[in-house]
This record gives sequence, C-alpha cells and structure tokens, in this order.
Amino acid sequence: MINVYIARQVAAKDMQPCLICSKPTVTVLYNASGPDWLYTCDIHLHDNPHFATPIYNDEYQEALDKLKMLKAQVGKLSAADKPASWDGWVSQIFIKKPKKDDEDANEDKDKDKDKDKDKDKDKDKDKELKNQADEKKQADSLKECQQKYNQQIDLVTSLQKKSRKYKLSDVTFNSRVQRKKNERIQAERRRKEQEMYSTTDPEEIAKKFAFPTVPNNSIK
Ligand SMILES: [Zn+2]
Repeated sequence: MINVYIARQVAAKDMQPCLICSKPTVTVLYNASGPDWLYTCDIHLHDNPHFATPIYNDEYQEALDKLKMLKAQVGKLSAADKPASWDGWVSQIFIKKPKKDDEDANEDKDKDKDKDKDKDKDKDKDKELKNQADEKKQADSLKECQQKYNQQIDLVTSLQKKSRKYKLSDVTFNSRVQRKKNERIQAERRRKEQEMYSTTDPEEIAKKFAFPTVPNNSIK
C-alpha cells in the first residue's frame, strides 16, 4: 500500500463520522493501492499535518515560488518607501519652516545674500520635486507589486482548493497499514472457521480447530 490518498465527496446519504472527531462528513480519503479509505471532516483534513498533508503538483509549486518572490519584493519596496516618506514629511514640516524664518530675518540685511538664498531655495525645490517624483515612482511600483502579489495569492489559493491528493502522516499511515494487516488476519480466520463449520466430521474439526481461545469441548 502506498501513502497516496485522493479526497472524494460522497452523497449526503452516505455520510460517515470523521475518523478524528466523529462529526458526520461526506469527505472520504481513498487509497486505491490498499484499497483503504477513511472519512474526515474538512477541519481535520486541512491544516492538520499530524493527520495528513496535501501533495501538490508542479504548477502549484511554481505558483508558490513566485508568491514568495513577490512577497520579498513587496517587503523590500515598502521598507524603502517608509524612510522616504518620513524624509519628505520631515523636510516639509521641520526644515522648510525654519528656512522661511531665516529668510525673513535676512531680508533687511544683505540682498546679495538673499539672492544666494533664493538660488539655494530653487535648488532645494528641485531636489524636493525630484524626491517627490521618486517617492511617487516607488509608491507606484509598490502598488503594482502589491497588486501582483494579491493576484498570485488568489492563484495559489485556487490551486490549493483544486488539489485533491494527500499523504497521511507516518503515524496515521502506519496505523492504516496495521489495520489492513489485521483485517487480512481476521478474514483468514473467518475463512478457516467457515471451512471448519462446513465439515461434519468431529475429528477433522478438532484437527483444524487451532484457536486456543475457544474451548475444545464446545463442539460435539
Ligand atoms: Zn473531524
């Protein structure tokens, strides 16, 4: 028996209790190589690695890799975005205002100095505009990246929902294998018992009857 189970839905009339919590469920995990099957509610099937983990195909893995890459990009861009807006905010609120006071104070003193100041002011203005443009560009690419990331999440989620293959945890699978073995032993025992009861010769019965749990004198 290999550890690959396919989740299937049965009709409501065929509901059976979940293996773990006994809640009636229509979801059954079927293993053709057993064959083996067990019922499980959705809560115990999803996000429950102690019981089972999904087996995803390559398409899902690729989508997941891309999602990770986009997440890293969003993280990088939003980290770069924060100090930039902080700088912009600082220059607007704190740096600009004292400068204006300076200009007012200098106004009466030296006109040449004022001209220099104006030049500086223009330079500052250019710089500010450039910073604002950069910030906008960064904000745009962050927005774009975030959008791509959101779309990728939707894709990964839909692929996740489509996936029907599961692998049981080692403990669960081993217990299924053991169960299967016991079933076989019991079937063999039943077969022998059947054979035994079909014969009427007491001596032959006594010979075949090898189960110590049943007293010999019960058969006459
Ligand atoms: Zn359950």
